[in-house]
Amino acid sequence: MTQDFLIFFFVLLLALLFSTFMEYTIHRLMHARYVLGTKHLEHHKEGTGQGWWGEFLDYFLPTIPFLWFGFLYSVAAGIGWALGGFIYACIAAYAHQVQHDNPDLVFWLKKPVHHLHHKEKMWHHNFGITFSFWDKVFGTYDDTDWIPNKKRNEYQLSDYFKIQWF
Ligand SMILES: [Zn+2]
Ligand SMILES: [Zn+2]
Repeated sequence: MTQDFLIFFFVLLLALLFSTFMEYTIHRLMHARYVLGTKHLEHHKEGTGQGWWGEFLDYFLPTIPFLWFGFLYSVAAGIGWALGGFIYACIAAYAHQVQHDNPDLVFWLKKPVHHLHHKEKMWHHNFGITFSFWDKVFGTYDDTDWIPNKKRNEYQLSDYFKIQWF
């Protein structure tokens, strides 16, 4: 039982880490010369999110064919992997939407890496959305200047829910 829980938890963390790696890789591919998706180019022109729900679908639907992989190992690993993928999509949808709606609220990063990717029209840097970890690993992190509109302590907890949800 304990061992099952450890496997579940380990695989869940692995799924989160792997998801952020895929996020980085796919976004980077979208900016590669011949692979730039039209949808992403549009996204850069518009500079807005689709609302949390639309973002969630974009992050979650493509993962569905891969969600069962963990069950090849065990039930605990299967649940951990699938749940990790689901949780990642929830978090990534929020991370993307909030950086378009109000980057000041990105409390878990030193700077809102995806907001800066748009604002500075970066084509070769800051591909991370949820985290900047992989940009730092692969040397694409651009620690450009950024001044928030308001300090974090001037925000209420309720402000963190004031994003476009649908
Ligand atoms: Zn981009
Ligand atoms: Zn964006």
